[in-house]
Order: sequence, then structure tokens, then C-alpha cells
Amino acid sequence: MDSSKELSAQASFAPEPLLAEAQTAAAHAYAPYSGFRVGAALQLTNGSVVTGANVENVSYGLTICAERAALVRAVATFGPAIRIAAVAIANLNNAPSPPCGACRQMLAEFIQPDAPVVFPAAEGTKTLPIADLLPLAFERIP
Ligand code: ZN
Repeated sequence: MDSSKELSAQASFAPEPLLAEAQTAAAHAYAPYSGFRVGAALQLTNGSVVTGANVENVSYGLTICAERAALVRAVATFGPAIRIAAVAIANLNNAPSPPCGACRQMLAEFIQPDAPVVFPAAEGTKTLPIADLLPLAFERIP
């Protein structure tokens, strides 16, 4: 890991308020099957914060993660031109919860390249830009 990238992703960004929003959202998770309750908070470039929580389904594969729940809510609320300035992820299980691959790809579509993504990791809260979380993101061939 290039520590300079990590530092630039954190520059002038205080994650605590956004993490608090993600933690609050996690309390709204619907997770009767896994018990893993996750919340995400997106800071948009328009100044708004949009949150989401994971929503499970008895057909497990239909479950949606907190990050994607927040993203679709942000687009539905503000339209397709939204840009994400920062992401915070929290859970109520005191466990690591970096965004999954599907969420990384979905976030990559709307996130600023240097936007910090803050999440609980094994070694504590970690902050990385999306390019480090998802190198070689899928892009449509023109
Ligand atoms: Zn996910």
C-alpha cells in the first residue's frame, strides 16, 4: 500500500461525523439471517449526506449491502449527476467490513477519484481511495 495515497485520501477530511451517520444507519439494518448490521453514509459533493443499511432477504442472493442501498437512494433523491466526496461504513458487530466487490464497482461509477472511503478493518478504521480498493475497475469499452 502506498501510504502517500492513503494520506491524500484523508487530507482535510474528518471522518467522525460521517462514521456516526453510518453507525446510526446500521441500527436500521434488516439482517435477521446473518445478524451482521451494516450502515453506510455517502457525503455528496452537493453537501448532502445520504445513508443506507443492509437489507437481507430469505433468498440470500437478493440481499443488498448498505453501500449500494445508500447509493441508489442518493441517485433516486438527487438524480444521476451525483458525485460522492466521501464514504463511511460502520457496523454494529465490531467486525471488519470493507466494501464488497460489488459495492466497490457501484461506488466507482459515482465517486471522486481521490474521495476517502472509511471502513472498519482488522487493524482499526482504515481510509483508502477507491482506486486502491478497486484497481482496474470494470469500464465499458467505447
Ligand atoms: Zn457490498
